[in-house]
Amino acid sequence: MSYGSTRYFKNPYNNDGAAEVSQELFKARTLTCVDHILKNLPPTHENCDGGLYVGISGVAYTLYYLVKCGLFPGHNERFLTAAKNYIVVALDYCRRRNKRPQDQVSFLLENGGVYVIACLIFHKLQDYQKRDQYLDEYRHLAAYCEPLSFLDNGSDEIFVGRAGYLFGVLLLQRDLSIEILPEEKVNLLCLTTLESGRKFRSKLKFDGSIPLMYAYHGALYLGSAHGIAGILQAILSFPNFLNADANSAKAVKSSVDYLLDQCFRNGNVASDLDAALNPGRERMLVHWCHGAAGVIYTFARAYLVFGKDERYLNACRELAETVWQKGLLRKGPGICHGVAGSGYVFLLMYRLTGEQKYLYQAERFGGFMFTEKFSEGARTPDSPLSLFEGLAGTACFLNDLMQPTKAEFPLLDVFVD
Ligand SMILES: [Zn+2]
Repeated sequence: MSYGSTRYFKNPYNNDGAAEVSQELFKARTLTCVDHILKNLPPTHENCDGGLYVGISGVAYTLYYLVKCGLFPGHNERFLTAAKNYIVVALDYCRRRNKRPQDQVSFLLENGGVYVIACLIFHKLQDYQKRDQYLDEYRHLAAYCEPLSFLDNGSDEIFVGRAGYLFGVLLLQRDLSIEILPEEKVNLLCLTTLESGRKFRSKLKFDGSIPLMYAYHGALYLGSAHGIAGILQAILSFPNFLNADANSAKAVKSSVDYLLDQCFRNGNVASDLDAALNPGRERMLVHWCHGAAGVIYTFARAYLVFGKDERYLNACRELAETVWQKGLLRKGPGICHGVAGSGYVFLLMYRLTGEQKYLYQAERFGGFMFTEKFSEGARTPDSPLSLFEGLAGTACFLNDLMQPTKAEFPLLDVFVD
């Protein structure tokens, strides 16, 4: 019997079938995840490290999200109370650590993201004074990510850089319907991100037609987590900026097209530029952080922004097929490099195309995480209850299976207006 490769389980399912998501079953599964988290993850300073990515503030987001979506009305009060308990401790942890302001900017690992989720939770609790306090904290961070190279090892990606900060602005704007920053400030951050990419690109000795490139700790990543795909997705999420600046719009589009025309191979995009330019050396990962399950969002956003050009949608279809083949990952149930992250790809495709096949595929991946094969053959991630590596992200995915027309990858909505 074949158990697939070391990275993933062999997909045991037919690739198409009836799209039936049992509300009863997936509600129970979602609640099982949440109750397991609440029971085993106390709100303590030891559990704060890693911000939204693997700390308790990410779990607070999951609880907020479940309340916001409204599929568990009988649990809202208990979820919101737990969310508040987590975020209050996470805020205190940020205060005590007192990091350098430029390091506090970080959306996925440090204060930035914690402030964003605090705003959302206090808003839900109708504590508008506290909400505004943390809104100001978040606004205050903008000044620290304005300098071109405000960090030493890459100032633009999603985890610690400007793209992450911009995603925080988008999330707040969308859920609170409040202007977070004046448009000139947002545009300046977008423009600085492009300048940074141009500057780094100009120093590279290769003749590819890509006008932008970025490095993070010396690696020229192409994917979502630390790479250009995530940065481009962020910039593509500010259509007002692109509409007002034709030059920037052109640079963004040329960069997306370079990824599509020159880096796309065998239904995937290599994890870094070096691998993309030297086939054979490539590590083709099927993760959100590196590879198919993440770059798909950049092409999806390009499809939505650039006049529904079918080339981008076709790329998404190919990436989704790769995820279907190789996305039952052994690294666990998370959204960063786990099965829920793969499952989100099919929910994205379902929203883009309305095709039942993708909802069926999402449901299959949602079910696989509850099989014996998975519990026996998957590894336990370092942070098994967290938003990006563990069950908190899984809970978001299971919730979204039940409301597929509204499904969104946590914190980084590709359908944002
Ligand atoms: Zn990952």
